[in-house]
Amino acid sequence: MSIKVTVWGENVHERKNRVVAQVYPETMHGTIASALNREDGIEAATVTLQDAEHGMTAARLAQTDVLIWWGHAAHGDVQDEIVERVCDAVWSGMGIIFLHSAHFSKPFKRLMGSPCNLTWREAGERERLWVTSRNHPIAAGLPDHFELEHEEMYGEPFGVPEPLETVFISWFAGGEVFRSGLTYKRGAGSVFYFRPGHETYPTYHDANVQRVIANAVRWAHNPAARIAQPHDAPNVPVQSALEPITERGPRLHQDGEAGYR
Ligand code: ZN
Repeated sequence: MSIKVTVWGENVHERKNRVVAQVYPETMHGTIASALNREDGIEAATVTLQDAEHGMTAARLAQTDVLIWWGHAAHGDVQDEIVERVCDAVWSGMGIIFLHSAHFSKPFKRLMGSPCNLTWREAGERERLWVTSRNHPIAAGLPDHFELEHEEMYGEPFGVPEPLETVFISWFAGGEVFRSGLTYKRGAGSVFYFRPGHETYPTYHDANVQRVIANAVRWAHNPAARIAQPHDAPNVPVQSALEPITERGPRLHQDGEAGYR
């Protein structure tokens, strides 16, 4: 059974910025999905912000093992109801990968519960990513470091909770460093944040970047059945306790009296 991936693209820069349209004639989400479809055991499809329900229908989420999210210019246009639906899917067991400027997307901020802010500079400078967790599955097949000749700089401090694992740290030509590959667990879902991918640079054509994303898909895939009601908090009454117990302490009795008896 293939891992089913949905690549969510904001699809705004590709239509409004000729530089982006030239770098990504297939769109960014289309380029990411095409690379994934060249992998064994992965089937990727795309949806966009402009689709009905932003492409995030309950049926689509139910069929998605791993969701990839790229957004930047229109985070505010994503309806809160859809954000909750995406987060529910993650808490139920769907994997999710946030790319680059998705650090400020509503689903990422909701899942992190923190400002997710950072410093940045757009100067087309060199980025060098170092693998900081050599045996991590997301770093499989990668060299100890690799370079992207032109990227936007993201710098620390990155306003996210302490991650489970840091898989990459980036160095930039201007001197900054940034934790650029972070893993989290949220409910039953695995979350990966990967930094590179500014829209005007050919980052998603890079073989190492494509390797990271494919590795992250396999890592984030949870083959277990989804948790149907991730918000449920069921009561376990006395008579259903595993071991026989007698209710103790002050309480309201059946005859309406309150207190010890
Ligand atoms: Zn950017």
